[in-house]
Amino acid sequence: MIPKNHPRYQSLLLRHKIVKAYKNGILADSGMIAHGRGEAFDYLIGEKTSPSAHKAIKAAAATLLLSQNPVLSVNGNTAALVAEEIVELSEVLDAKIEINLFYRTEERIKAIEKVLIGAGASDIYGTDTTNLKFIDGIESPRATASPQGIFDADVVLVPLEDGDRAEILVQSGKNIITIDLNPLSRTSKMSSISIMDNIVRTLPLLINESLSLKKESKNTLKNILINFNNEKNLKESLKTIEIKK
Ligand code: ATP
Repeated sequence: MIPKNHPRYQSLLLRHKIVKAYKNGILADSGMIAHGRGEAFDYLIGEKTSPSAHKAIKAAAATLLLSQNPVLSVNGNTAALVAEEIVELSEVLDAKIEINLFYRTEERIKAIEKVLIGAGASDIYGTDTTNLKFIDGIESPRATASPQGIFDADVVLVPLEDGDRAEILVQSGKNIITIDLNPLSRTSKMSSISIMDNIVRTLPLLINESLSLKKESKNTLKNILINFNNEKNLKESLKTIEIKK
């Protein structure tokens, strides 16, 4: 048990979830390393959501609400940290949930599916390995997608994504939204909207933003996007990284 008054309580709690997910077969070993990289960036931004991340979250909500076929892509880290929030967001947006793994194994797919079902998900895409397609015919495990899910999506939320896969998704013409604490990652640089924040803080904010923007007109949503520039916003995000003694 981590004592609640420990100065690193929240951070240690997340670590604990990640280690548990690894032991339960939800996460690949490299998923723990990816978490560590994220932790380092979170430390540098003061473990809080910056104004630029708030702007990106608003643009993400507008994009997802304007989408015809939005899909939320889930990997081991996402399932370990925010399974309930993913299910809630999918309900608010009427978006599909797809399990999409860089290191895909049947065991890990099953373990993540179980976590998502436990969190209240009913339809989960990407679980049937025999029924996957290759995006743009790129015959690589990095290009797989379920036919009615990511393959057919116009907007995909891909948190904590690897750069190679993000590149394939972007090049296929899809609108890609990422949540990535590293503003210098290839994924952050390539995505249409990059939210530089911890996924555990972003998801509740994205749910609330989606609920409030749902009441707005399409024109209002389009205007939010006209006024959002991802490159500029990412530069602002980078400035929030502060090295203090
Ligand atoms: P790229 O290939 O895009 O250049 P990478 O090699 O770092 O980046 P991965 O390690 O596959 O890619 O992706 C993990 C990314 O997720 C890292 O950039 C890390 O900063 C980020 N990350 C890890 N944990 C979290 C978290 N809890 N919230 C948001 N981002 C996170």
